[in-house]
Amino acid sequence: MMRRKFLKLLGISVLGILIAPYKYLYSKTKKIINQNLSQEQKNILFNDGTEMPFTSSLLHEKREGFYHCANCGNKLFSSAAKFDSGTGWPSFSEALSGAFNTKIDYRFGMKRIEYHCAKCGAHHGHVFDDGPSDTGKRFCNNGLCLIFVPSD
Ligand SMILES: [Zn+2]
Repeated sequence: MMRRKFLKLLGISVLGILIAPYKYLYSKTKKIINQNLSQEQKNILFNDGTEMPFTSSLLHEKREGFYHCANCGNKLFSSAAKFDSGTGWPSFSEALSGAFNTKIDYRFGMKRIEYHCAKCGAHHGHVFDDGPSDTGKRFCNNGLCLIFVPSD
C-alpha cells in the first residue's frame, strides 16, 4: 500500500518535471493577442527571431505618428525619435516611457540588451549605446513587430 502511494507520488513529480518546460513555452505563446499575425511575425515576437535587414517597409517611413506593438497595440515609439541608422532595421533614439522591459541576451557570444513590449511581453529588438543623438541609444527594432499609425 505504502509502496503504491510512493510510486504514485513519484509518478506525479516526474510528470511535473516533464511538464514544467512545456508549461513555460506554452505560457510564452499564450501571449498572442493579435490572431492575424503572420508566421514570420510570430517567430520574431515569440521566438526572439530577427527579420532580414533592409526588408521593412517602415525603413523609409517619414511621416509623423506613433509606432505600436503589432501584437497588442501598445504605443512604443514616436516618429520624432526615428532615424536612419543604415543598419537595415527601423531605428529609434528613445522609446516612450514604460513601453519596454529589458533583459540581457548572451546569444551568439555577445552581450546585448534585448527589449520586450511591457504590455504583452513580445520581443521587439535590441538596444545599443551607439546612437547618434543626445540619448546615445539606438533601439534596433524589427519592422514586422511594429504598426505605424500616422497622426493627422
Ligand atoms: Zn505588445
